[in-house]
Amino acid sequence: MKTLLLNPGPVTLTERVRQSLLQPDLCHRESEFYDLQDEARQRLLDVYRLDPQEWSAVLMTASGTGAVESMIASLVPQHGKLLVVQNGVYGERIANIAKQYGIAYETLAHDWMDAPDLARIAACLDTSEPFTHVAVVHHETTTGRLNDLCQIGALCRERGAQLLVDAVSSFGAEAIDFSEANIAAVAATANKCLHGVPGASFVVARHEAIERAASRAYYLDLARLARLQAQRNTPFTPSVHAYYALVEALREFEDEGGVSTRHARYAALAEQVRGGLASRGIASILPPEQSSVVLRAYDLPPGIAYEPLHDALKARGFVIYAGQGDLSKRLFRISTMGDINASDIERLLQAFDELRR
Ligand SMILES: *Cc1c(COP(=O)(O)O)cnc(C)c1O
Repeated sequence: MKTLLLNPGPVTLTERVRQSLLQPDLCHRESEFYDLQDEARQRLLDVYRLDPQEWSAVLMTASGTGAVESMIASLVPQHGKLLVVQNGVYGERIANIAKQYGIAYETLAHDWMDAPDLARIAACLDTSEPFTHVAVVHHETTTGRLNDLCQIGALCRERGAQLLVDAVSSFGAEAIDFSEANIAAVAATANKCLHGVPGASFVVARHEAIERAASRAYYLDLARLARLQAQRNTPFTPSVHAYYALVEALREFEDEGGVSTRHARYAALAEQVRGGLASRGIASILPPEQSSVVLRAYDLPPGIAYEPLHDALKARGFVIYAGQGDLSKRLFRISTMGDINASDIERLLQAFDELRR
């Protein structure tokens, strides 16, 4: 029996992407590698139809956190100041990164169940010394909440600040309005909504943001990575096979119809899960209109702890995901990324029925 991954990345691969890993061994100092790198960078811009005159996609060998770290460490300029909007684990991680690099920052913490409070963000941006940047997580995977980038971006634009976005679990599946939201950069990874393998991640940034970058980081120095990649070069040995898979995943993504198709597909699967679980008495913690299509969080059924639920579903071929922090006792999460279809979800729902017998 094939095990399906319903955790938020890595995802169940399509056969097409899996086979792409078997291409020839490749030295990263050969032209074939730079062709691969160029194609990945171009296709990443194409996902949201970004103009290469304005935007650059910078690749790195890291998980999603590496790309977020590279973005935060590099794109808050030397004398810049960062406001971190937090409503979950990943917002808190951004603040930890800022602290680690000695960046001037403040946090605006929310309860993990809450949406960012626009009035509080505005007040924060207005009272203290001006912030140059605001960091926010687009899809807060902690709860499945989709934060509204355009609303926060509008507050930033009025005050001359720019957005740095953790879009690790939304890039490719949720709409991102790069201009309207006043975005300087987004960080994301190959192995979530794009359906690649772990090991390749990237930052899509405005050229002008890269030009003002600070070089706090070494391996993750975004400006150096950007400069060398633009010259068909690379500072270090990249995860060549992860790049093979990323390029094939991006070709497949385009063949299937791009962001809108992937969004529609995830939305149908997520609603199938939500509706099916609701009819079995298991409620989603957020209403659909506040949730991403990528992942939803559900209350644990009364009297069932996460571990036995996880183990019983795994025995039937499905890997679900625990809540983080204090939420681990309250909820479980189901993502519908990857090579998953409606009949898989039907089987998942039947597995829930079997648990209750
Ligand atoms: C998955 C994820 C990350 C990165 O996690 P890695 O384990 O480093 O890949 C960052 N932010 C969000 C919102 C995520 O969902």
